[in-house]
Amino acid sequence: MKKVIDVISIMPEYFDSFLKTGLIGKALKTGLMEINIINPRDFSSGKYRRVDDKIYGGGAGQLLMAEPIIKACEYSVENFKEKYKSEKRAVVIMSPSGKLLDSDAASEMSDFDHIIIICGRYEGIDARVADLTGGIEISIGSYILSGGEIASIVFIESVSRYFKGFLGNQESLKEESLSGDFKKILEYPQYTKPKTFKNLSVPEILLSGNHKLIEKWRMEKALKKTEQIRKIKI
Ligand code: SAH
Repeated sequence: MKKVIDVISIMPEYFDSFLKTGLIGKALKTGLMEINIINPRDFSSGKYRRVDDKIYGGGAGQLLMAEPIIKACEYSVENFKEKYKSEKRAVVIMSPSGKLLDSDAASEMSDFDHIIIICGRYEGIDARVADLTGGIEISIGSYILSGGEIASIVFIESVSRYFKGFLGNQESLKEESLSGDFKKILEYPQYTKPKTFKNLSVPEILLSGNHKLIEKWRMEKALKKTEQIRKIKI
């Protein structure tokens, strides 16, 4: 079953190069995946096609209104139903106060056939969008971005790596930092040509062809790196 991701965003131009480039570009071309960008402005009524308004109760800034987003969601669901049979759908709302995205969450999300991602802007989104969609709020980190677009791109990049056939070599998923056997540890250092660069040589053991020793070396280095990174205080 093809994986379909519909992104609801008032700034669709964020996705122009993303959809054309790298593994995502390839997966869209081969039909492994489909990504549609849906603009709530197209579902907004009135002369000015407003998508945002002031916040009830006061406070600075604007909030995205519920109606255009909900209409965009309804369109996404109808459109998907017309083409595909599956009901395995998730609604994700990008939010700094959501569940923190990690490799387990990304892997679990990859089970869904249809993912609707809602991107906030300004001060965020009318709370009724979460109530009506039952969507899960996901954060990509403990900091505030100006909008959900980049966050949704991060989400899509991390989830799509778990789609069957997305990576040329599925083994790389297991060897990556924070996944498979390396769940709690970061990746070991890696080298490519040339053997010596600015007086720094590739560790001899990696040229030895002894896979057991190489594995042991990598595990040691990965643990050391993890320890070092955890100590960094900024
Ligand atoms: N007023 C909000 C921040 C709004 S930021 C607050 O204090 O929590 C505007 C939008 O950017 C959010 O609605 C969300 O969609 C997106 N966003 C910002 N930071 C994010 C993060 N760390 N992870 C995911 N989405 C984020």
